[in-house]
Parts: sequence; C-alpha cells; structure tokens
Amino acid sequence: MDIDTHTTRSPVDDEALLDRLFRPMGVDGVYARTHLYENVVDALQRLISRHRPDDAEVFRFPPVMSLRQVEKAGYLNSFPQLLGCVCCLHGTEADISAAVNKAKHGADWTCETTTADLVLSPAACYPVYPIAAQNGPVSARGLIFDVSADCFRHEPSRDVDRLQSFRMREFVRIGAPAQIATFREQWMRKAEAIARDLRLPYAFDRASDPFFGRVGQLMAANQIEQALKFELLIPVRAGGAPTACMSFNYHREHFGKTWGILDDSGVHAHSGCVAFGIDRLALALFATHGLHLEEWPRRVVDILQLG
Ligand code: AMP
Ligand code: ZN
Repeated sequence: MDIDTHTTRSPVDDEALLDRLFRPMGVDGVYARTHLYENVVDALQRLISRHRPDDAEVFRFPPVMSLRQVEKAGYLNSFPQLLGCVCCLHGTEADISAAVNKAKHGADWTCETTTADLVLSPAACYPVYPIAAQNGPVSARGLIFDVSADCFRHEPSRDVDRLQSFRMREFVRIGAPAQIATFREQWMRKAEAIARDLRLPYAFDRASDPFFGRVGQLMAANQIEQALKFELLIPVRAGGAPTACMSFNYHREHFGKTWGILDDSGVHAHSGCVAFGIDRLALALFATHGLHLEEWPRRVVDILQLG
C-alpha cells in the first residue's frame, strides 16, 4: 500500500505525543486530554460540521446505550470481546451494604453487581437506526444523519492510537443501495480532499472489522471480498503501521432488516456510514506536524481555523 505523502517528516515520537497531549488516568488507553489537544479536537469537529450535508438530521448521543438494542443489532455475536456492559448494585439496603462491606475488606464487590440494561456505546451510529425506524417508511430521497458519541471498546493497549474510550463522529445514509454507494464514493473523495488539505499522508485500503473467533474470520474475509469496508490510513505511530482514522462502511440491509426500516414499497432499506475517528485524526495531525501549533503549515492552521 502506498501512502500519498505531502511531508518528508517522520511522525513525532509516541512518548512525546503521550506526554504533551494526554495525562494518565491509571488505565491503559484511557487518558485525560490537554487543552492543546482538545483545541484541535474541537477544530476538527467544526471542520467536519462544515462538510455536513444540508439535509442531515443531527443527534449527539450519550456514551451509553440500550443493552437490548446492541444485542438486537448483533453486536454481541460479532464483537463480544469489545463490549463494555454497565453494571450496578441493585437490591435492598442490606444487599448493597453487604457488597460495600466486601470492598472494605478488600474482597471483590463487583461480583455483586447486576446489569443496568446499558452498554457503553461501541460506535456512534448504532442508536440512530431504531430512531430512523420510528419515522415510518423512508422516502425516495432517503435519510441522512450526523451523529457522534464517546465510544468504548475493550482493547487496552499502550499504543497512543488505540484507546479504550474515544470520540467518533459519523454521517449515516439510509436508502436504496445506489444511494448508499454514491454516498460512500462521494465521502471517500471528500475524505481524501480533507486529508490533503490537512497535509496528512494517507492511503485507502479495504478492511474488515475485528469479528470474534473462528466464525468471525470467515465474516471478516467475506467483508473484504465484498468490499463492504474501506479505511483511510495515516501514519500516527513512529515506526508503526499506518492507523485507520476514518472508515467507509456499507451494511447492506442489515440494520434495515433488524429495525424494520422499509421504503415506500415495503422493501428493507440499506445503510452505510462514514466514521471519523476524531482522536486518531487529532493524533495524526500532531504526529505529522509536530507538537507546536505555531510550527504547523499555515494552510492547515487556516483550514482548521486555529489561527
Ligand atoms: P470502526 O467502526 O472500527 O470503523 O471505527 C470507526 C473509527 O473509529 C475508526 O476509523 C477509527 O478512526 C476510530 N477507532 C476505532 N477504534 C479505535 C480505538 N481503539 N481508539 C481510537 N480510535 C478508534
Ligand atoms: Zn457507523
């Protein structure tokens, strides 16, 4: 895979990125973010908003969503290893006190918790399909959404670009197969223009999701063969493989069938999404242009309106 490069500089050292942009919070892949970093995150969010399709309906989701909805969408079959479940202490005052007392004696109190019917959102677009389904049949124009959420995936790592808690922004298209194909092609071209504007070295590749287990390997191979997922990769870690910073996904009629989203003639709608890994994009900017905004290319600062 060739990286289209506009810069001769090699990425900033990972330790320097971690040191200047984050503060540890005691768990791998979970960080406090500095002002310097958040300024760039905000600028990226605004830049993406300026690219928002005119007719997009906007939703900002909380970092948790319904356990039942995630189960229904098939996430537990496909990615159980990544899912985080919210559990709480339920029961009488005596039950809860007993659990707290366990903690006081250094014993594990968490085994006394039971589900709160919530999971930590694993991707920003999952909650939008049941909302879309409530609006009745999808018109010939289809639907488009701008969504975002703080997402969780249980993949603890010391790599600066593999977080357990990260921000995801997405544009989601629901409609006929041809509409989804056009949407995805347009967004791959737009993403390329954005990467060029931001002077980020990039490459596209076919990709697969990290499906669980041996059956999952077949699903991943199928996803690649059918070109259901593309990623835009940018070098973020010095010496490491380039990192997926955006993805372009075609779900076929998976969510349409799951949620009963139909078109005017009763056919299941198809869907696709373009996902921006906001934290990875911010890291890619710092890794590429350095840790001092005053040294970034003028054009990049202007496009991000950071000046
Ligand atoms: P995906 O649903 O896996 O295509 O994820 C959408 C986007 O979220 C990816 O293109 C990444 O930029 C970002 N992303 C996924 N996993 C992580 C992670 N562990 N840490 C940071 N960003 C992530
Ligand atoms: Zn999505």
